[in-house]
Order: sequence, then structure tokens, then C-alpha cells
Amino acid sequence: MTVNLLHFDLEGLTAFCDQLGEKRFRATQLFRWIHQKGATEFDQMTDLAKSLRNKLPLSAYIEGLKAVSRQDSSDGSIKWLFDVGAGDVIETVYIPELDRATLCISSQAGCAVGCRFCSTGHQGFSRNLTTAEIVGQLWFVEHTLRRELQRDERIISNVVMMGMGEPLQNYSQLLPALRVMLNDHAYGLSRRRVTVSTSGVVPMMDRLAQDCPVALAVSLHAPSDLLRDDLVPLNKKYPIDELLQTCTRYQLAAPRDFITFEYCMLEGVNDTLEHARQLIVLIQKHALNGLTCKFNLIPFNPFPASGLKRSGMVAVTAFSKELLDAGVVTTIRKTRGGDIDAACGQLAGDVQDRTGAKQRMASQRQGMLGGIKVVVAEGMSI
Ligand code: SAH
Ligand code: SF4
Repeated sequence: MTVNLLHFDLEGLTAFCDQLGEKRFRATQLFRWIHQKGATEFDQMTDLAKSLRNKLPLSAYIEGLKAVSRQDSSDGSIKWLFDVGAGDVIETVYIPELDRATLCISSQAGCAVGCRFCSTGHQGFSRNLTTAEIVGQLWFVEHTLRRELQRDERIISNVVMMGMGEPLQNYSQLLPALRVMLNDHAYGLSRRRVTVSTSGVVPMMDRLAQDCPVALAVSLHAPSDLLRDDLVPLNKKYPIDELLQTCTRYQLAAPRDFITFEYCMLEGVNDTLEHARQLIVLIQKHALNGLTCKFNLIPFNPFPASGLKRSGMVAVTAFSKELLDAGVVTTIRKTRGGDIDAACGQLAGDVQDRTGAKQRMASQRQGMLGGIKVVVAEGMSI
């Protein structure tokens, strides 16, 4: 049995080296070659003993993801689609800004949560990504861009788990991937520069707080259970009060951090001043227990099957002002990648159609793409 070394965090790689009868520091050397230098061949690893270099290929390999397409936006954003086998395609988006460069990573092929406003949710769930596939997105983009830009130093400064899928429904594969991102011998990202976005998988939020308290973004989208039940079906299992209590507990493990609440602005559905006022009451109630948060208002990426519309700028601005006037820190998400088709899951669906695989997804998607140009890729900035 051979194993892809992208699958391991440092602890896993150390255990693997143990099995080979190799010392711990060999694992650190290997880890650095893989993640800091982007090596794929053991022969490149010149500071490893020749005997180890000969032994490794018998039980291990280093294999990244297969890119099936790449789109470069005129604003510098780049979107890749990766073929992860059996007709499943996932997407990764690189978003450069003046002071940072963010990578938006997928955690699953499809998603089981089924939010009404999300095209990935409409596709349904296909499978969990492995740790190697989650880390592989960062590994691929970081080293591809370093080669292209001929840079030695780190390119990606922030990671957001806001691509396809619900990361906290794939916890066992997510956790080692986060540990690789944070490890100084790999990408060395600080805890606050890695964001997990969740629709509210309460028990796993508590686990994450204990295991690896990275920055947390929670997709709220509604001020009441009645409305959230309809938009984010997981709310029926973990209603708003329980979710916000869990956020407050999370902050004990991540002191001085804000929880970011994402709120997708849907015309006439959740965007009125009345909704804003309900939200303020809700937040003020939980602030008494110690919750500190900020709001990120996201312009909705429309797709026909959703039957929903993007809120107008007037409504978004008025909503934002209402929150700000009540002392709630609020930002409106910038639009990026306007010239590349970049809505949540839509391009992945396109490739699946062309390969003829995944008929279920293809039929559900009919009419969704229809040549529309979408303006915002989800997870573009927080
Ligand atoms: N499953 C996780 C992370 C992936 S979705 C979650 O739901 O948080 C990342 C973000 O994109 C979420 O805040 C989600 O609500 C938002 N999103 C999904 N579909 C969207 C759309 N069509 N337009 C705008 N934002 C969308
Ligand atoms: Fe899944 Fe997030 Fe989309 Fe909801 S918004 S369906 S949780 S990916």
C-alpha cells in the first residue's frame, strides 16, 4: 500500500516515519520539502539520506490535484476547477488584495445542507474531500503561483473554507488539513488568518474550539428560526439561540476574536429594516453573555433554480446603516471576479455536464447556467 504524503499533518507524517524506522526529524524535513518547497520527487530532497530517498517511493508518493480549468479575472482573481474523480469537480478561488492574498478552499464535492440560496446546496452531496484534497488545493495554488511569479517567499496569506461544502460535516479530514496550514514547517499561517465558515454544525463547532480554534465565520442569513429553517435547513436541528450560545463558547477558546456572521442579502426575504431590527435584538441579547461579532453582508449570486433575487444596493445600504447605528460592526462584501463565472458550485456543474458524468447533478442544474454571468464568487473576502 502506498500513501499520498499530502494526506498527513506533521504528527501523521512522524508516525509514518516511525513505521519506516526513521527518526522524527526526518518527518520535519520531508514536511518542509513537500509544503515549503512544493517537491513531488523524493530525489529532489537532497538533505535526506540516499537510503531513505530510495526507500520512500516503495510506500509513499506526493500527488497534487488535477486541474481541469483555470480562469483569470481582470482584477487578478483566479479560479481553478479540479477533477477529483468519478465525475466530481471542485473549485478553488485565489483572491489577491493589496495587503493579503486569500485562497477560498472547498471541503466537499457538493453539500448535504441544501441551503435555498446556494447552488452547491441545490446539487446535493457527492462525497467528502480527503485531507490530501483539501491541503492539495493550497499546495497546488501556492506552488503554481510561486513558479509563475518566480517568487521564493509565501504568496497565500489567508485561507477561507468557503468554497463548496460544509467543512464541519467533514471534520476528520478537515482537522489535519488545518494543522498543516498552521504549521510553521508548512504554510505557517496564523490562527486568525485561517477561517472556517459553517452553516452551524453545533457539536463540531465545540470540537473545533478545543482542537484548533481558527477564525470562525457563521452563515446566519436570518434573524428568526422561522425564516432560517426555510433558508438553512440545518437550523431545524440547531436553532439560532443554540447556535449563538455555541459561538459565545467558541470565543472562550479564541479570546479577542470576533465571530463573523455572514448574511446573504435576498430581496424581500431577509433584507428589510424589520429584519435588521430583529437581528439587533438577537445580537444584543447574546452580547450580554459575551458574544462579540461582526456582520458581513453578501450580495446574493442569483441562479434561476433558487427563485430568489439579489437585494438592491439601497436595501443593502439601509440594512447596513441600521446595524451600524446600533453599534454592530458591519461590512458589505466586495465583488470580485466579475468577468469570470464564479458563483458557488456553478462552474463545477458545467464541467460535470461536459464529461457526461453525474447525471443527477446535471439534470438538477438545467437552466441554472444558461449563459448567465455572475458577479461575485462566494467567500471572496471577509
Ligand atoms: N458551507 C459553509 C461554507 C461554504 S459556503 C457555509 O455555508 O458557511 C460559503 C458562503 O457562501 C456562505 O456564507 C454561504 O452562505 C455563501 N453563499 C452560498 N451561496 C451563495 C450565493 N448564491 N450567493 C452569495 N453567497 C452564497
Ligand atoms: Fe452547503 Fe454552505 Fe451551500 Fe449551505 S451555503 S448548501 S452549507 S455550501
